Amino acid sequence: MKNILFLQFYNYQNNKYDLTNGFSDTWDYCENKGDMLWYKLKTFQEYDSWNHLYESYENNDLPFTKGIIYICISFMNQLYQCYIWAKKYPDIKFITGGPILFRYNLNYLHFRINSPLPKNLKFINTSVEEYFNIKNYTHKWKLKIPDEIKPHDSITFNYSIESKCYWGNCIYCRHSSEKDIKLLRQRRFNYIKPIHIDHSGDCTIRLGTDSFQPKFLNKLNQYSNFNYVSFFRSSKVELNYLQNNNRDLNDFIFIVGLEYPVDRMLRYMKKGFTVDDYINNLVLLSSKNATITTMYIVGWTNLIKEDINNLEKFFIKLEGYKIPKIEESYICNDLYVQYNTNLYDKIKTGKDFKYGPFYLGHYPILNKEQKHFRQLSIDIIKNYYDN
Ligand code: SF4
Repeated sequence: MKNILFLQFYNYQNNKYDLTNGFSDTWDYCENKGDMLWYKLKTFQEYDSWNHLYESYENNDLPFTKGIIYICISFMNQLYQCYIWAKKYPDIKFITGGPILFRYNLNYLHFRINSPLPKNLKFINTSVEEYFNIKNYTHKWKLKIPDEIKPHDSITFNYSIESKCYWGNCIYCRHSSEKDIKLLRQRRFNYIKPIHIDHSGDCTIRLGTDSFQPKFLNKLNQYSNFNYVSFFRSSKVELNYLQNNNRDLNDFIFIVGLEYPVDRMLRYMKKGFTVDDYINNLVLLSSKNATITTMYIVGWTNLIKEDINNLEKFFIKLEGYKIPKIEESYICNDLYVQYNTNLYDKIKTGKDFKYGPFYLGHYPILNKEQKHFRQLSIDIIKNYYDN
């Protein structure tokens, strides 16, 4: 074994393997330089969820004790594992990158950390190509799946398109901080290549983009065992494109961040679309057989009575369209104020939101009236989906 490793994590949950591949754009380059290793790590739900207990992770071993390891991080508990490894293996240099580190500003991942980061743990938020100073996307995309996976097994894997959102204005989002924009990476349209993978089981492809642009639709091949999952905005831009495109979307699951479907709140958030834009997109996506997961945020600090009335009206209107409601087709999250966003500048105090030593932001403090509005909002949203 060489003393350079390229480590990718995977997990097995709910009868499905989830491969958080990060070296697919440079597989051959990396394989020439070191050994490729798949490392099976439980999901954070299987461990201890948000408790991030040190002892849950400290017994996970690596195959050597001295060298360099490049690691792709897609989930927070993978980052936490690297942090613990860096303490456990002081003679290994850990170079970590990937979607999580694109997503969070590196300066604040260890903001408010209790003790300094281990010196052998380095975070990067460049692509592998940029790090090794080779030209982006010039290598063949490749995914060699872990040996334990059988041909008929269901798998999920990543295919990156861009680590940047073309909109970039929502006040609660990291993209709202212009400081971050220059750090981010975007795959150019010409570099979208067909995904080749030798696997007959069901494949879910997690498209790496914070906001899928429908112009990429026809670049993504339809195969009977493929499903694509991606974040999706619901503005007039998406609507115009979808209206002029014939592709059936029964192989797509779109995750739409609707957050709080009242125009006054959408303007406050700078979402860049209206409630009607969302409904028009939803109707069209549904007619093209796409599956839509809608995400809502409650726990805002600035709701007014009129918003609650308008929230009720929104769902009454939506009911009229008779769009099929798919089980688990919504997620309701409490607002947490991410560090280094425009919202953070407006709401400065609250209960810390951390993962292990990593500070991610805080939950705002709600007064009595806002707590009441939060509960009413949850009840209205749940009522729509439960009935
Ligand atoms: S559309 Fe999504 S990714 Fe883009 S700025 Fe808004 S919240 Fe962020």
